[in-house]
Amino acid sequence: MKPTLIVHGGAWRIAEETHPDHIYGTRAAAEAGWQILRQGGSALDAVEKAVSVMEDDPTFDAGIGSVLNSEGDIEMDAIIMDGRTLELGAVAAVRGIMHPIQLARLIVEDTEHSLLVGEGARRFAERKGMRLCAAAELTVGREVERFRRLQQTPDYHMVVDFTPDPKGTVGAAAVDMQGNVAAATSTGGTAFKLPGRVGDSPLVGSGAYADNLTGAASATGHGEKIMRVVLCKTATDALAHGMNAQQAADYAIKVMQDRVGGYGGLILVDHQGQIAFSYNTPHMAVAWVDDQGEIQARIQGE
Ligand code: ASP
Repeated sequence: MKPTLIVHGGAWRIAEETHPDHIYGTRAAAEAGWQILRQGGSALDAVEKAVSVMEDDPTFDAGIGSVLNSEGDIEMDAIIMDGRTLELGAVAAVRGIMHPIQLARLIVEDTEHSLLVGEGARRFAERKGMRLCAAAELTVGREVERFRRLQQTPDYHMVVDFTPDPKGTVGAAAVDMQGNVAAATSTGGTAFKLPGRVGDSPLVGSGAYADNLTGAASATGHGEKIMRVVLCKTATDALAHGMNAQQAADYAIKVMQDRVGGYGGLILVDHQGQIAFSYNTPHMAVAWVDDQGEIQARIQGE
């Protein structure tokens, strides 16, 4: 089986001056994941690595660079799923760690559980020897400025309009030489969210899904809408019903738009290695491995 991989760095109106950073960051993530796949490594390792690279990159709303909640704190969500066994690991509203996706992976490997939240997730990270950090280590000036701006906006929660609100949730979907698929997603969530708010990203089927019988998908966008249509599972189910990868991705985004008026994007790899992405926002940052084994990185919608 020819391995392949696609990653995303969020779907929204991406400010033009940040396009090079998004292209650089998604390309670096795709390259890191591709290196693993090319050498015969697993799809699970590849998506974890690709997402970790973007968590380290302050361009994106994941790990370093995460948005601040309404109390100026950072709470992150992440999920990883193995299409071979349907096992998944997820963390929600976790604070003070650099790589939520690595913690999600440890949940798959070392526990009987699937989802850990908040303080318990952080304590598990500590027990596993992960380095804990202060919110300040994850906080970038861009997000402090956004937080201050939003503090001045009365009734921000009432006027939330997803489209112009910059984000950068990250994700990856891959198939390896053995034909196993995997997906991963990581995010700081939405800006100025209420403490304790959990979006679609760590919810199985919404923020990601992976099944060797169909394919793997990762989503980004307005979490409260994505979860209502279980976006990634909607896309992989469409594969099961005979759509090709592009049709399935377009179909899932259309369901979200028509049924709940949601905005976002998703990436998809079917179990035969066909790649697709779809979005209904002004832009989406994506990078993938083409048929020649070269990385293509784009801000779609430019
Ligand atoms: N889906 C994420 C959330 O709602 C945000 C995003 O993708 O930008 O938490």
